[in-house]
Amino acid sequence: MSEFDKWLAMGKNLANRAADTAGEIVTKGKEKIDRVALENQLSKAQRQLGALVYSLKKSGEENDDLINHYVEVIAAVEAKLNEQEAQEAEKYCVSICPSCGAEVSNEAGFCARCGAKLD
Ligand SMILES: [Zn+2]
Repeated sequence: MSEFDKWLAMGKNLANRAADTAGEIVTKGKEKIDRVALENQLSKAQRQLGALVYSLKKSGEENDDLINHYVEVIAAVEAKLNEQEAQEAEKYCVSICPSCGAEVSNEAGFCARCGAKLD
């Protein structure tokens, strides 16, 4: 297996796991855990992309297809994270603390950051 096949296999594996995680969110609704999993995948994919670009540059080679593949995976995971954030914001009906400007739940009686009483 060549160096680049290895990178490609890793990228595909990562994409599959991102898709699995995204599927779990829909079926199981494990929002907190899946979100952490997605964030881990995102930073892992970003690290791998960085390492890939580094090794390509170092060896003076080019493989835009592979780089594009990683970029697509990272974009897909980012999109999932954004989607989840939007869902969570809607679910918890976030509003802004009038005293310090922090995001607070509509259900909260006090601001978690500054302790101001919320109406
Ligand atoms: Zn506050």
